[in-house]
Parts: sequence; structure tokens; C-alpha cells
Amino acid sequence: MTSLDDLPLRDELRGMSPYGAPQLDVPVRLNTNENSYPVPEDVAVAMEKALAAQVRDLNRYPDRDSVALRTDLAAYLGHRLTAANLWAANGSNEIQQQLLQTFGGPGRTALGFTPSYSMHPLLAAGTGTAWVDGRRDEQFEVPVAHAVEQVDKHQPDLVFLCSPNNPTGTALSLDVVRAVADAAPGMVIVDEAYAEFARPGTPSALTLLEGRPRLVVTRTMSKAFALAGGRIGYLAADPAVVDAVQLVRLPYHLSALTQAVARAALANTEALLSTVDAIKAQRDRIVAMLRGWGLHVADSDANFVLFGVPGAASSGGEAADDAGPGAPGDSKVTWQALLDRGVLVRDVGLPGWLRVTAGTPAETDAFLAALEELL
Ligand code: PMP
Repeated sequence: MTSLDDLPLRDELRGMSPYGAPQLDVPVRLNTNENSYPVPEDVAVAMEKALAAQVRDLNRYPDRDSVALRTDLAAYLGHRLTAANLWAANGSNEIQQQLLQTFGGPGRTALGFTPSYSMHPLLAAGTGTAWVDGRRDEQFEVPVAHAVEQVDKHQPDLVFLCSPNNPTGTALSLDVVRAVADAAPGMVIVDEAYAEFARPGTPSALTLLEGRPRLVVTRTMSKAFALAGGRIGYLAADPAVVDAVQLVRLPYHLSALTQAVARAALANTEALLSTVDAIKAQRDRIVAMLRGWGLHVADSDANFVLFGVPGAASSGGEAADDAGPGAPGDSKVTWQALLDRGVLVRDVGLPGWLRVTAGTPAETDAFLAALEELL
């Protein structure tokens, strides 16, 4: 086999690594922020029925515009949105890729505030869009003045805001979204993959869409709806944005089976979202327990918690750098020690920090027991 270096790879892809959380077969998998609860039996039966109704028609292409699904998604979101405001694709990753294909590309720039979702810069690279890192502060926050300064300085064609932010867990105040939307010359994308897990009093950027035609909110059914395997993400925006992404979407990109499963899930929203409170309770339990042990823990509005590993110096993501590999506070050592105890968490590349998904009470028990052994 030849190597990547021998292929005429696009320059901007040279030296990059593909997105890839390990998919290991271990008892407790808390590394990709999935919903640990399986699809409930009655919802699974409804999905099977919906799929069976489609199977015999698979000789035909699906509804290219997914109108019925978009209508259901609009009804779920509320905020007086209609199908014209909604667009759906194979995961919010594909939605964000379509946005970059539409509004980014060679000669154009996207700005994000890191540490944040690692796919945003990767999708930018894949579409030939230059990426600019506007850093978060030591507390992983994005002060309004800093956000506006970065926008003014770089004049990006797209800005990515992630709220609640992955991997830190914290939601952004709408003041930041409003200020960035006012200052930005281009599109502003608010990635709300974890919105359903936000603590009370955390408003969605959906409330800001009216009158802001360059603001886009992306969501997913992979997390709260427990449908990561179904691959359904969507955006809400001005109808013109929905029209614009038609220019780049592949024809019939969303299979009839995917549309049917998504609609069956939305018809059972209450049953599927019934796990959200239980997950939030485990998240808050992890936060309280780890803080009780004296570890640094970022506030979380999501279904995961970013925590400082035992021995890490302080917050901010840079602190444990000088601890060196293998020293107390090295995230890789703690990651491996937890894995040795059957618990898979995520090393998000922030020295001294790891991220754990909030799962079932039993999974939380296993994670806490394993971590306590390391203290
Ligand atoms: N946005 C964020 C912030 C995420 O964490 C994820 C998944 N890890 C996604 C988007 C993509 O999710 P999906 O493609 O499954 O909708």
C-alpha cells in the first residue's frame, strides 16, 4: 500500500488527522456524548412500522426536500418556525459542511472560539475555508468584547459559536450571540447540539432568529433524542438560508429510511426526551462529586462534564503542560488508568483535562469508582 504522502493530496489536508474518537469494546463507554439509554421498546416498534412502510418503495428516490420531516422539526422547535425555516441532513455535521460549502470555501474565512467542537475547523479545512482561532479565556468563556474584537479583526465569512460548548459544557450568554450577529459581516452559526440538556434559564439562539437572516442555529437528534445511529441533524434559519444550501446539497441526500425514522422519533418526542432529566441528574452528580474531591470541573449545560484530572494544576487548559508526560496531572495517564478499569472517557487534547459523558446511574457509579481509585 502506498502512503498518504505519495498521493496528490490537497495541500490543506496534508498532516491532518481524521476525526476519530476510539470505538473500543469496553463495559462503560462515556467518550462520545451519546445518550446511554436505548430507544424505548414502544418507540422502536413505531420506527419499525415506519421503516416497513418505506421499504417497498425504495425503488423510488426519497422526498428530496424532506418536507414532512421539516414540518415535524419546525413543530418540535416552536418559536413560530415553519418548514421553510428548517433544513435537515445526515447529522448536524453534514448541515455544517453544507453551510461551509455555501458560505465558505477558498479565499474565505471561518472564525471559532476554541477549545470548541473539533469538527468545525476540520469541516472548514475540508471545504478549503481558512480557519481562525479566537481563543476562549481561562474559564473557557467568550467575553462579549473579545468576541466582537475577533470578528472586527478577522472579518470572517462565517463565525461558529457552540452553545452549550463541546468540550467545556458551558452555554454562551445570548449577549455574545447578539453582539457577534451585529458585528459579523457574514454568517453566524450557533451549534446547539446539546441545547436540550441546558440548565434552566439558558435561552436558545432560536429566540434571536427573527430579523437576523444571517443567523443559523444547528441542532441534532443524536444526543437528547438518543438517535446518534440514525444520523439526523438540522438547522433553523431564514428561508433564504434554506434556499441557499440547496445549491450544494447532494440530490436525495437524506434517505427515505432516515426521514421515516426521524419522523417516528419526533412523533414520540416525549418518550425519547424522558431520559434528559435523568442524564442531567447524573451530570450534576458528577460535577458535585468531583468538586467535592477537589478537582477542577467546568460548569456544564450539556450531557458531559469536563474535569481536571487528579494532580492537574489549575483551570484554563494550559496549566498542566509543564507537568510533562506521565506526571500527575497528565490527562493521558488518567485516561489510560480509567480505561484499565473498564471506563472509556475522552481525551480532548486539553492538557490536564478529560471529558466524561453523563450516562446511566450505573455508568456514573463505575466512572466515579474508577476515578476515586486514582485520587
Ligand atoms: N456539534 C457538536 C457540538 C457535537 O458535539 C456533535 C457531536 N459530537 C455534533 C455537532 C455532530 O453531531 P451529529 O453529526 O451526530 O448531529
